[in-house]
Amino acid sequence: MTVTYLTTTIPYVNARPHLGFALELVQADVLARHGRQRGHEVRLLTGTDDNSLKNVLAAEAEGIPTQELVDRNADAFAALRVPLALSFDDFIRTSRDPRHRPGVERFWRACADAGDIYRKHYEGLYCVGCEQFYVASELHDGRCPEHDTSPQVVAEENWFFRLSRYQERLHELISTGQLRIEPAARRNEVLSFIAAGLEDFSISRSRDRARGWGIPVPDGEDQVIYVWWDALGNYLTALDYGVDGPAYQQWWVRGDRRVHLLGKGVVRFHAVYWPAMLLSAGVALPTELFVHDYLTVDGHKISKSTGTAVDPVTLVERYGTDAVRWWLLREVPRVGDADFTVDKLTGTTNRDLANDLGNLVHRVVSMQHRYRGGRLPAQWAEAVPGAEALATARREAASQVDAALSNFDFRRATAAVWSIVEEGNRFVETARPWQLARAERDGDTSAAAQLDAVLSTLIGACRDLATHLGPFLPDTAARIEAQCTPVDGRLPATQPLFPRGD
Ligand SMILES: [Zn+2]
Repeated sequence: MTVTYLTTTIPYVNARPHLGFALELVQADVLARHGRQRGHEVRLLTGTDDNSLKNVLAAEAEGIPTQELVDRNADAFAALRVPLALSFDDFIRTSRDPRHRPGVERFWRACADAGDIYRKHYEGLYCVGCEQFYVASELHDGRCPEHDTSPQVVAEENWFFRLSRYQERLHELISTGQLRIEPAARRNEVLSFIAAGLEDFSISRSRDRARGWGIPVPDGEDQVIYVWWDALGNYLTALDYGVDGPAYQQWWVRGDRRVHLLGKGVVRFHAVYWPAMLLSAGVALPTELFVHDYLTVDGHKISKSTGTAVDPVTLVERYGTDAVRWWLLREVPRVGDADFTVDKLTGTTNRDLANDLGNLVHRVVSMQHRYRGGRLPAQWAEAVPGAEALATARREAASQVDAALSNFDFRRATAAVWSIVEEGNRFVETARPWQLARAERDGDTSAAAQLDAVLSTLIGACRDLATHLGPFLPDTAARIEAQCTPVDGRLPATQPLFPRGD
């Protein structure tokens, strides 16, 4: 049996969650639900990065203690579970979870024992937004390429990690696909970054600069651990790595797939720093990294300060969980940024869910009531003339979804399921069950048999949809399932799947 450990990145919690992070959560959730549906053992982890200096600064700006701000916003992230219908198995908070600090300390010591941690005086340009040092050539007109702010000059004595030692190993592991990075353009970007030469990086801060917030460097130093070191460690610490617990053995050491989902802004941390840290500590690498691009809103980069941060909870309250999930899965391409607008959301919802899917299920269940008293056929028809394309779509959906999702292509996966919807609607139009019903009433027994075959093909297609849509639209799938499952021998009364949006 395949054992799969899936993670999202853990966002810093200086503000409430926005739609861009909802994308990553929903993608991870689909992979988890799909794996479970195929009988795999799956564990999905998400959480929050509480120890960032950005959280400290946000709390200072509000005039409240850092822990208070962090707790409030972390709760908002954990609470996405219900509105987004997420099925994560674990949620780690790096400032509060008792598993985290012992794991980070053990990991630090493992790298120190390997001779990869040393002290050095350092001066550099630091962006607090990124929690990252930049060299001048990486800046755009002297400003951070992610935040368009001027980095601060920092000079202090820090602990450093000997990243340079792992340059060749990393290049080989990634170029041979032992650490698979998708999409390929991201892998190539990482390979050229590595080939250009890796420099050791600072992994601690003075306690003053960190405002006393974060995990102290082990053994009584007046330094706290670099927040990225601490945050990346969550993928292990949530598995009880700190005490070498059974979860670590099961999911990391003996697991088949260790998959990290992440956004393009944090590729370097996940594809270069993190694997090198794992090599140093003698821990297996992740097997796959999937890098998604960004969402824009009305053509603008998502930004809390300019008011373009869409709140996923508000969207769900207005348009429904599955409308939001469907837009994220159906419209966001595997490569390239996608622009969100409310018009696009309602357009996709009305076209796909209300019209194509909602009408199909409603017509099929209604005809089953009208022509057969809500009773399902005694036997399921095979090879119904005119239903060849529908049969192909039904037969191939599962393997096409498998192939698409193993390639992190959510659009192609939804398209495979959707071909059942499209072919189902087409078959209703060509088979014309209402004409068969008329002929049946007029005593045509071959028309009666044909109608049985057509209806059973269609209800079978709807039941297939309930199965295949499960990972993507769990609520809708359950409602289709309920409409297509007899209670006391008859299907329940028909109800619209989707009240029409506005
Ligand atoms: Zn920045």
